[in-house]
Parts: sequence; structure tokens; C-alpha cells
Amino acid sequence: MVNVATIEASTVRTLFGASIRHSVRDEVDRLGCARALVLSTPQQSDAAMEMAETLGTYAAGVFCRAAMHTPVEVTEEAVAHAKDVQADCIVSIGGGSTTGLGKAIAYRTDLPQIVIPTTYAGSEATPILGQTENAIKTTLTDPKVLPEVILYDPELVVSLPVEMTVTSALNAMAHAAEALYATDRTAETDALAMEGLRAMVDGLPGVVASPEDLAAREATLRGAWACGTVLGQVGMALHHKLCHTLGGTFDLPHAQTHAVVLPHAIAYNARAAATELQPICDLLGGANAGAALHKFAQRMNAPLALRDFGLQESDLDRAAELATTKPYPNPQPVTRDDIRALLQAAWAGYAPHH
Ligand code: NAD
Repeated sequence: MVNVATIEASTVRTLFGASIRHSVRDEVDRLGCARALVLSTPQQSDAAMEMAETLGTYAAGVFCRAAMHTPVEVTEEAVAHAKDVQADCIVSIGGGSTTGLGKAIAYRTDLPQIVIPTTYAGSEATPILGQTENAIKTTLTDPKVLPEVILYDPELVVSLPVEMTVTSALNAMAHAAEALYATDRTAETDALAMEGLRAMVDGLPGVVASPEDLAAREATLRGAWACGTVLGQVGMALHHKLCHTLGGTFDLPHAQTHAVVLPHAIAYNARAAATELQPICDLLGGANAGAALHKFAQRMNAPLALRDFGLQESDLDRAAELATTKPYPNPQPVTRDDIRALLQAAWAGYAPHH
């Protein structure tokens, strides 16, 4: 069969708006639930406690130990806690780490989830769950982990520091950029990816200039939704493989790693997928999508070098080895030497080769 297009569409009730988090009780009601377990990281325990107050009698408990990469031992404690307090739904308030914990609980218990995102990572819009056990990160896709409800409240993203705002937005843009050359993309996923990229490119400068601008924050949250949704619909390639390797094996921070690697991975793939990536050139200006993203990242004052996040130059050989073992399908053939050169440039903070 040729030219078969597959569209994976699911219904996730998604609401945008300042203060929308205060409608969480109504959303719990709509799910037919009455005992919510609120999740957060330790850093966002205040937000979790406020959420429990908003939930009032619908709050069954609060668990504030979500951690990056969803460690299985934390999930097991959280599942036990959910059972102890007889939770009948999950309310996750935070970034991808907290959403990941909620998904991991849902995977094991089938509890419905309401997610209130406070970064742009986009995990709330995907049926994908990454988990870590014995220092090994694995990823699964299951409709069971896709949240039932998302409440995008721009007031909650105001507290995200500007650097994290920029890196998280570039993390979101990475999903959309790789969607443009995905082997299973469709005209619909292309349109969604471009909607996400456009929302970020248009909205981010306003957020950086004025982090409390709720209209700009909401525009970027809409971008995060589009980028996250397209991530859940198509397969990712070299960029995500590199970030998965760097995060999983070298413990580099998630959003920052995406931000640094993105222009390099896209410049690499522009050699084979210039036509697919042309909409990024049209959006940002310039003849190469990777170089255009590099300039945009510079303009947003994004971090540009992996060396700034603790990666040693002596790690690069191993990183290149791991990233080229079982590579994801990729438009430009992946060779160890080419990836080693890409990583050297990303480590040092040079402009991408193209
Ligand atoms: P994060 O959730 O780890 O948040 C980083 C830090 O910022 C945490 O300490 C958090 O509490 C804090 N924070 C978050 N929002 C804040 C706010 N508004 N104000 C102040 N502090 C805030 O980071 P992330 O980049 O959102 O998520 C990364 C994780 O998400 C990774 O584990 C990644 O693998 C996962 N992820 C999964 C998917 C998926 O589809 N499964 C998609 C994207 C990311």
C-alpha cells in the first residue's frame, strides 16, 4: 500500500484561560469523581497545597515528590498513597515531571487525570510515558496514560523563570520541528506543527520582554498544546534520540538539552529534508532551518552549549556511540562520525554546521 495516511485523534477536554484552574472542582465532578490526589514536585508544593484548598472536600491527598524522568520507586510510593487515601482521580500541577508521575499512576491504576501544566513541555497532550528504573529510561505509548482533562492557566506559568521559559518553549518547538519530517506525518500533522511553531515564535518574544503578560503566556500555552499534540501523533527522529541519550545517560536537564541540541539536529537533517523544513525558514527567515532556529535561540538568550550543563568533552565519544546505536528513523543517514561532530559543536556552543 502506498500513500496511506493515519490520523491518531483522541478526545482530551482542553480549557485555556486565566484562572481556569479554579474550575478544577467542576472538572472533577464531570469525571464523576470526588477524591482527587494532587501531585507536584517538592519545588511546587505551595501550588499543590493551594490546589488542594481549591478542591476543598474533593481533595483526598497531596503527594509532592514528583521527580525528573519518572523514577519507578517514586511512582510505587505514589500508587500506594493513592490507594491509602482512596483517590478516584489525579490532579497534576506542574511540568513534564509531575505530569509523568500522574501518567505513571494512571498506567498502573486507570485513574483519570486532570493536568494543569506550568511549563511548555507538552507531555499532557501525549499518550507517551517515559520511566526510569535502575538508571535506565524506557518509553511506552498507551492510550491509558493520555490525560482526560487539561487546564491551561497562564497565571501559573508566570512564575516559570525566563531562562526555563525559553528552554521549555524550545523543547516544545522541537516536537513540532521533528514532526515536519516524520515518516508518518500527514497534511494535518504538518498544519498542527506549524501552528505550534508559529504560536511560539510569535508569542515568546513578548513573554521574555514581559513575563507577566498573560495574553502572551496564553498564546505560548496554545503553542505548547499544538506541539505536544503533534508529538503524540507522529514518530520523532534524531533530535529526540540525542536528547533522550543525553538526559538518560548523562543526566542533563531536559528542557535545556532540547534547547541546545535543536538547531544542530535540524541543521543536520536539513541536508536531506530541506523541503519539509522550508516552512521553518519561511517563518523565521534564512535559508537553513537549523541556522534560523539557532538565531532565534540566540535572540531569546537561550543557552547554547552543553558544556554549561555538566557534560564533559570526554563524554562525547560515548554519547555519539549511544545515540547511533538503534537510531530512530531519520531523514539524513546517521553515522557515528557525523553525530560526534554535531555533539562537539553543541557541546562547545558553536553555530550548527550546515
Ligand atoms: P520539570 O517538570 O522537571 O520542571 C523543572 C523544574 O521547574 C521543577 O523543579 C518544577 O517544579 C519547576 N517548575 C515547573 N513549572 C514551574 C513554574 N511555572 N514556576 C516555577 N517553577 C516551575 O520540567 P519539564 O521540562 O516541564 O519536564 C521534563 C520532563 O518531562 C522530562 O522527564 C521529560 O522526559 C518529560 N516529558 C515527557 C513528555 C511525554 O510526552 N511523555 C513530553 C515532554 C517532556
